Amino acid sequence: MRILVISDIHANYTALEAVVNDAGMVDETWCLGDLVGYGPDPNAVVEQVRELPHLTCILGNHDVAVIGKMPFEAFNGDARRSLIWTEKVMTADNMNFMRTLPQNVKVRGDVSMAHGSPRDPIWEYVLNTLSARLNFDHFDTPYCFVGHTHAQVMFQLSEQNDRVTLEGTKPAEAMRLMPRAILNPGSVGQPRDRDPRAAYAIYDSKAHTWEARRAEYNIAEVQRRIREAGLPEKHAIRLSEGW
Ligand code: ZN
Repeated sequence: MRILVISDIHANYTALEAVVNDAGMVDETWCLGDLVGYGPDPNAVVEQVRELPHLTCILGNHDVAVIGKMPFEAFNGDARRSLIWTEKVMTADNMNFMRTLPQNVKVRGDVSMAHGSPRDPIWEYVLNTLSARLNFDHFDTPYCFVGHTHAQVMFQLSEQNDRVTLEGTKPAEAMRLMPRAILNPGSVGQPRDRDPRAAYAIYDSKAHTWEARRAEYNIAEVQRRIREAGLPEKHAIRLSEGW
């Protein structure tokens, strides 16, 4: 089964469209949350995600805030401004769709899925080997897919010596997964690993392979829409820097 794994789209429709085209035919789509926030296209993104084949989707912290289940005060000034705008422009239909999505850990076959981490699905960032090690005690499956940090990475646990290593993922190469690992496909709509291209992954649930991929998209076009909507300039600038 060829599964498209996406996360942190952040209302960037142009990036999402590039990823869907680049991925080609897939059997399923797993989305790890943060459909909205920061970007200018919350409705277009939610409508496209809803159409993706055999979708499993969990909520991220920005999504949870927009549907009214978390106070905006939990976010910094620029993120909050963007959330206030998003809440205003989202259609009732798209809001209702987001309200049907879960915000806790979801298990599919060999994989646990969380937006932040299995220990704290909404807020924790799995940024380093220490936070990764602690989180290996919070899921039972061979693999866990997370988003939230906007960095395309993989943490491998060695069962022999109980050590966690941060592994680089070679782009466009299907890597054979070994239990146990925490994997992050990166961010579709706002990468923060110094590569501005849209990030995603293809997981083959039968062959147990992971292909970390990047797709070029028209960044200038999205920056133009961010400015047009009056959203914070910072969220436009960082798109071209991948940070
Ligand atoms: Zn995010």
